[in-house]
Amino acid sequence: MLDIQVEKTNHPKQKPVDETQLGFGKIFTDHMFMMNYNQEKGWHNARVQPYSPITLDPSALVFHYAQECFEGMKAYRRADGKVQLFRPEKNAQRMLSTHERLCIPPISEQDFVQAVKALVEVDCDWVPHSDGTSLYIRPFTIATEAMLGVKASAEYQFIIIASPSGAYYAEGINPVRIYVEDQYTRAAPGGTGYIKCGGNYAASIIASEKAHKLGFSQVLWLDGVERRYVEEVGSMNIFFKIDGEIYTAPTCGTVLPGITRMSCIELMKSWGLEVHETRLAIEDVMKFAQEGKLEEVFGTGTAAVISPVGELVYENETAIIHNGTIGTLTQKLYDTLTGIQWGKLPDENGWTVPIGG
Ligand SMILES: *Cc1c(COP(=O)(O)O)cnc(C)c1O
Repeated sequence: MLDIQVEKTNHPKQKPVDETQLGFGKIFTDHMFMMNYNQEKGWHNARVQPYSPITLDPSALVFHYAQECFEGMKAYRRADGKVQLFRPEKNAQRMLSTHERLCIPPISEQDFVQAVKALVEVDCDWVPHSDGTSLYIRPFTIATEAMLGVKASAEYQFIIIASPSGAYYAEGINPVRIYVEDQYTRAAPGGTGYIKCGGNYAASIIASEKAHKLGFSQVLWLDGVERRYVEEVGSMNIFFKIDGEIYTAPTCGTVLPGITRMSCIELMKSWGLEVHETRLAIEDVMKFAQEGKLEEVFGTGTAAVISPVGELVYENETAIIHNGTIGTLTQKLYDTLTGIQWGKLPDENGWTVPIGG
């Protein structure tokens, strides 16, 4: 158990009145959670304090060698006004494996969830009310020791900030066009593809800039060794429905183990669908598309929940999926997951965790 001190702001900000204008990640709540690490005290000084800039030494290790990682999760407001989290212990477990890979001292699952709950409780009124809106929660850890030298930092800060965000599909769910990236890669065996670290994203921006210039919304990443097997799309996991069965890349080192991915797999298996976590070559995907067997393609991630893919472009070939419209399974997954997250459907799997009382 963390002993969390709470210092509330004397200058609460004006909350956004028009929730249709929230967008994503632009405004932040009144408070943030912070906790420090040093070798003498371990993780200490857990507190919720007014949201504010932080001061770091310019030589702080995070700025030079990117010893940094993050998580992404949401708090949802139910129709009865109560607020809940979705499988927060899974974020805690993933953060633990991320910390381990980056040689950052661990934060226990219990402490992580307690910290998230403490911040959301204090900033509860910031969880927006309109359909499809949520409070996006961003826990992150940075190496703060002031020195230049490539090594594990002796000091860290763990911080959680939160941002009310608008409905992802305010204009309705429109399938996206995806560019299959055959030059740049995002992850290789032995690397950091399976953890949520900023470095992975820094290296991926060039490909998404290229895709945007070409008129696509995201890239589909191929494996880093042969550039042949499908791995992820942007910051989402990806699923293919081929001839009635489901395929997604296995999470063995190069693919981020998404919590939305895991939840979709569990739901689809409970619906009696065959789900294969197996490597799938892009040329086979394109061939199945030509044969009319590629029935649905969708990405999964906390931000969008489910993102239908309407078109895949690989080298000079284009695959149009489900006539560019959302498929039945994609829609069912979206309705089920969002139904559970916003408390409109019964939570039969015990995935939701209430905030306060
Ligand atoms: C966060 C993330 C995902 C999705 O994970 P969720 O837990 O479902 O939000 C997928 N791929 C990458 C690269 C990510 O960073």
